[in-house]
Amino acid sequence: MTDERPSRPIPEADDASRPFFEGGFEGKLMLMRCSECRAWRLPARQHCDNCLSDAFGWEQASGRGSVRTYGVMHQKYHPGFETPYNVTIVELEEGPRLPTTLVGIEPGSIRVGMPVVVEFELHDDVALPQFRPA
Ligand SMILES: [Zn+2]
Repeated sequence: MTDERPSRPIPEADDASRPFFEGGFEGKLMLMRCSECRAWRLPARQHCDNCLSDAFGWEQASGRGSVRTYGVMHQKYHPGFETPYNVTIVELEEGPRLPTTLVGIEPGSIRVGMPVVVEFELHDDVALPQFRPA
């Protein structure tokens, strides 16, 4: 059986984001963190918003968070997406907010503040973090 539906666009990792997109292959949500003041940097960027340092490392985040806000898309903006689908901002336990998708839940059951936990959708070159109810 052939699936004629165009595939969903998948992000490509670059040097700055590779640890983020590859951490999921080991089940780890990896975030950039300032080596000077310990502030998390999401998305990855050269300088710390807090202290302007360019020193950083990559550290494993807990993978736990809560729904900060969400939207349910009923309009198909790309043929690779099945509607309805959700676009959700998860506030990580560590503080940063991550745009993502909730899985394992009907759109009408999503609630702001609900606890969620990360899992990964594995592709050839990237592991996309997505979340399900905890
Ligand atoms: Zn800093």
